[in-house]
Amino acid sequence: MDDNGCKGGGKKESPMKVLGKEEVEEIKKQLLLGENLQEVRHKLLVLSGKGGVGKSTVAASIAVALSLKGKKIGLMDIDVHGPSIPKILGLEGAPLMAAEEGLFPIRYSNGLDVISIGFFLPDQDNPVIWRAPLKHSMIRQFLTEVKWGELDYLVIDCPPGTGDEPLSVVHLLEKEQVDGAVVVTTPQDVALTDVRKSITFCRTVNLPIIGVVENMSGFVCPHCGETVDIFKRGGGEKMAREMGVPFLGNIPLDPLMVEAGDSGKPFMQHFPDSATARAFDRILEPILALE
Ligand code: ADP
Repeated sequence: MDDNGCKGGGKKESPMKVLGKEEVEEIKKQLLLGENLQEVRHKLLVLSGKGGVGKSTVAASIAVALSLKGKKIGLMDIDVHGPSIPKILGLEGAPLMAAEEGLFPIRYSNGLDVISIGFFLPDQDNPVIWRAPLKHSMIRQFLTEVKWGELDYLVIDCPPGTGDEPLSVVHLLEKEQVDGAVVVTTPQDVALTDVRKSITFCRTVNLPIIGVVENMSGFVCPHCGETVDIFKRGGGEKMAREMGVPFLGNIPLDPLMVEAGDSGKPFMQHFPDSATARAFDRILEPILALE
């Protein structure tokens, strides 16, 4: 007799769920993605609540600085509406190379490979209208078909806000153990309101938060040496404390950083001895500690 009091004879129902065609396809795609990333040791997302706070600058600076410390880095720019990584790294117009086994990222240096949606757009001046499924499949392709090889860190520069793209990355990397997010803000209240949403987003999707960076935090006047707090100061740190997340540090407003970004000469490589670069080094400590 079985648990249901049946004396047998009837056909037993199989406990195995039969998967539909779409589910099988999805599993196959996930397996391919996992296979492509199997030699990537750490994965970080760089997020911000709003645009213009320096998220891409911070993502590029983290990537360049880690590569200068001898790490193998991949930098993936999925900011479909404003892919600024090619410009920041002086890689605009770099030719992509595809082979049967996939697509090769653009080599910035021996330690840093880059892929950006900007490499695929023929014209930087016209907006591209992307619907959510298209963005999702672009992100999947970047994770599955770009030959990242062996990396210490894959740094993913997401678009601002808590929309489709960060959600897609989190879902696609669900089984790949993302280390967490670096959340960039500026100190004034309007930016902080939005960054709180980013932190809530991370918590909702179970994405660990590596910490908050307060960018454009104070400005040291090159003429008189006085510090001017253009966007206030300390707001990001206070907010991080209130929300119970780590604070990674402040980066000052530095005119050289604008110059570096506009001329495609990454700040961390060209001004490594500046006070701003030292501030970045402090932010790297918890990231290096992931190793
Ligand atoms: P986001 O990715 O958040 O939209 P970007 O990284 O593109 O922002 O930066 C926006 C502008 O601000 C760029 O011109 C960049 O050079 C400048 N910028 C970023 N951080 C700093 C800083 N700490 N000091 C001065 N300029 C900065």
